[in-house]
Amino acid sequence: MAQNTAIQWCDSTENPTMGCEGCELWNGTRKTCYAGVLHRRFGGVSSGYAPEFEQVTNFPGRMLRATKWSDLTGRDRKDKPWLNGMPRLIFVSDMSDALSEIVEFQFLRDEVIENVSSEKGQRHRWLWLSKRPQRMAEFSDWLDVDWPTNLWVATSITTQQSAARIKHLMKVGDEQTTRFLSVEPQWEAIDLSRWLPEIDWIIQGGESGPTAHPFHVEWAEDLVRQCESHDVPYFLKQLGSKVSLAGKTARYRHAHGGDWNEWPEQIRVRQFPVADAA
Ligand code: SF4
Repeated sequence: MAQNTAIQWCDSTENPTMGCEGCELWNGTRKTCYAGVLHRRFGGVSSGYAPEFEQVTNFPGRMLRATKWSDLTGRDRKDKPWLNGMPRLIFVSDMSDALSEIVEFQFLRDEVIENVSSEKGQRHRWLWLSKRPQRMAEFSDWLDVDWPTNLWVATSITTQQSAARIKHLMKVGDEQTTRFLSVEPQWEAIDLSRWLPEIDWIIQGGESGPTAHPFHVEWAEDLVRQCESHDVPYFLKQLGSKVSLAGKTARYRHAHGGDWNEWPEQIRVRQFPVADAA
């Protein structure tokens, strides 16, 4: 959907589907998912969106378009120097959950797997996030081809309870598959120690917006330490709009606490799995 994105940990985003069947960020009582909020503005107005957020819609052809984007391997990124040396990193499904029940596996095979595996697609790394890793694992089982090594997979977790998603993520793909966690927006202290030895990358971040849960800087300090001890690359995306440090509110000039120049040095960490892991 966007060849360039402000999201700190990738270069681009693409959406084979638009819309979603919801999660803890979009349900009867909470409606803070950014994709959902944008759909309320543009759904039914812009042809690039699902008519309504809950009406998940396929957009065939977008993944093919993204395969043609230039190869960024070895190119410097002025605004995201931490990405230098990497191939183009494309976040798949930032405006949707493509593993929503209504999306057929055949569509995902044709759009995602075929394009990611194509000659042009293999120049990039595709980072597919879902809050439905169980369905992603079922899709992976259903496939009649190997999971592409340049298709990294992730699930997002917000609470200790939602960390139950991780066990399903571990069943996606095979031993070559790069698996990572997006611990964002983090709502409470979460113990990931059980999973760290098996995870290839961790992204962490606090919540944005007026209803944001507080993010404790100590959570980042702790996860940085744990990732170091397990040799897991770690990436702190942002501290969020409500930050707590040593029990007190901490204020930052950047509205989402996303400027790493303002962070304590020990959490100023933005690492990636090995660039040529695929
Ligand atoms: S699963 Fe993702 S796209 Fe769907 S509502 Fe939740 S945050 Fe939004």
